Amino acid sequence: MPRPPRIPDRDWEDWRWQLRNRITSVGDLERYVDLSEGVRAGIQAASSQYRWAITPYYAALMDRDDPDCPLRRQQVPSAQELADDLGAEDPLLERDHSPVDAIVHVYPDRVAFKITNVCPTYCRYCFREYFVGNTGQHHTRAKVQAGIDYIARTPAIRDVLVTGGDPLLFSDERLDDLLGRLRAIEHVQIIRTGSRTPCTLPQRITPELCEVLSRHHPIWLNTHFNHPDEITPEAASACDRLLRAGVPLGNQTVLLKGVNDDPQVMLELVHRLLAIRVRPYYIFQCQLVAGTAHLRTSIESGLAIVQALRGHTTGFGVPTYVLDTPYGKVPLAPQYLLGRSGDEVVVRTWDGRIWREPNPLDSSPPAGMALADLDALRQPTDSGCRA
Ligand code: SF4
Repeated sequence: MPRPPRIPDRDWEDWRWQLRNRITSVGDLERYVDLSEGVRAGIQAASSQYRWAITPYYAALMDRDDPDCPLRRQQVPSAQELADDLGAEDPLLERDHSPVDAIVHVYPDRVAFKITNVCPTYCRYCFREYFVGNTGQHHTRAKVQAGIDYIARTPAIRDVLVTGGDPLLFSDERLDDLLGRLRAIEHVQIIRTGSRTPCTLPQRITPELCEVLSRHHPIWLNTHFNHPDEITPEAASACDRLLRAGVPLGNQTVLLKGVNDDPQVMLELVHRLLAIRVRPYYIFQCQLVAGTAHLRTSIESGLAIVQALRGHTTGFGVPTYVLDTPYGKVPLAPQYLLGRSGDEVVVRTWDGRIWREPNPLDSSPPAGMALADLDALRQPTDSGCRA
């Protein structure tokens, strides 16, 4: 990986050095990439409105000469952000679903627990722009404790997603303490966490951190790679350390114009993820937050990409494409079930063939359901069948 000269390995490989030396100015960035006068001015203009920071590790992955480098598009501010003024500040209305400051409670059985607003790098498309990077500090102990207290007094919560910001930027000691307190709550069955550090700061995945995580199982971790070039030997080693600590890994990708809105790029991404034993989990439709319109694609483009994956990769390599809304995630899938025709259903296969499958009309519904529930799923009926 090309990196500026005179940085000793022991610094480069130290996650705290990486954080202390994050790039936050045009001058620093120019140690890694060449910038035209217009791009330089765009960064300066956008950074007066939106926060930015990039780890030296991630900057060293960028193409020095290509202004359209997909890694640059994700992290380097641009003048386009100032032209994209459409979009809500908090598109998922998280603040309306926050019984206490650090908690977002949308689904009955699980919560998102935001413990910090700090991230190693600030992605240009972040849907938590209203919150992430605001103070540049972790939540106070009192605020975190208020979140734990809410979880403890809400027995319906069996699954806690520890999130942020990036929760793995907590010190090992604070993380150990937090996970221990959550684990002590009897009704909390699983703890999940979301972290982009394996992609933007793989040095953070130290043996000591893995030891902390392994003390509090079951812990699941979803990470966040958007482009195949992000899957480096360093990232692969970080994921391997987590897996060896017994932490199952999934990946959440955001669909981004000029980054991964191309079936071949997405196919390569999922193949590289599978090769490092990270399961492709979600592709998120990019939220409309101020400054993000130039990075968004249509939902139809997303459906076309997911359709292009099916049949061309391992079944569990096809992530679920979702639109997040204030009321939960909505799965978006190409239509394969074309309809019912008498006692058959008509389906379309991945390569476009039509298949008719004998399909009984159930006289009784599954336990706890009404026949009307099945009727609702029988749409379109004969008349609506397009086959
Ligand atoms: S890592 Fe996640 S939370 Fe942090 S800025 Fe990027 S998208 Fe937002």
